[in-house]
Amino acid sequence: MTHNLDNLHARLVAVRDAIAAAERNHGRTPGAVALLAVSKTQPAQAIRAAAADGQRLFGENYLQEALAKMAELTDLDLEWHFIGPLQSNKTRPVAEHFAWVHGVDRLKLAERLSAQRPAALPPLNVCLQVNISAEDSKSGCRLDELPALARAVAALPGLRLRGLMAIPAPAEGLEQQRLPFHRLRQALEVLNADGMALDTLSMGMSDDLEAAIAEGATLVRVGSAIFGARQAKPENLSRSRRGAE
Ligand SMILES: *Cc1c(COP(=O)(O)O)cnc(C)c1O
Repeated sequence: MTHNLDNLHARLVAVRDAIAAAERNHGRTPGAVALLAVSKTQPAQAIRAAAADGQRLFGENYLQEALAKMAELTDLDLEWHFIGPLQSNKTRPVAEHFAWVHGVDRLKLAERLSAQRPAALPPLNVCLQVNISAEDSKSGCRLDELPALARAVAALPGLRLRGLMAIPAPAEGLEQQRLPFHRLRQALEVLNADGMALDTLSMGMSDDLEAAIAEGATLVRVGSAIFGARQAKPENLSRSRRGAE
């Protein structure tokens, strides 16, 4: 195991400091940006250590792995976010076990999640994933599809549409990194001007969180900067490398 829990505290503090500095430097309200700790491929023990350090929101990409860790951590009050790619035939456990889903990009997925959300639970919080980088054509709805999709998803009783999410193609430098985040923020503003009340921009990861916060992120999804390098799972190697999907 390459996990070094001794450094976890220092890395978590460094990420919190980076978020606070970006809020200050870009005119954001202190505390406006939530930290989602992306714990995919990390052991339950690492999540427990981060939770002991005050971290409550965790993001997972792989369903079986996530369910196993949840079962080990039922004694903790954690909020689980599903951020991975989701196949239509795998929606039920997500609807039953998570508080949020960030990668919804088609109506069929949303309809299934809504129908499968247990009535005893509050509505499932949902972000629509938007494909804002031309290179990243694999997931996310197109900008021109977004208004109709948002209206349809907002009408589903088992869901609460909270906002938008994106995973831009990697870019160098703050100004370059800001461009796709700016487009996502504009898309959110258009929807809100149209009468929606969306409060979440899920954007920014370990390498581009300052740019995302500068453009209005309300939640950053940070993995490696907190937990260190991931151990790639063979079947997920390319996905883990891309830090996406
Ligand atoms: C893995 C992943 C992250 C975290 O990426 P890091 O570069 O490790 O911070 C964020 N969002 C999504 C959707 C991911 O799959």
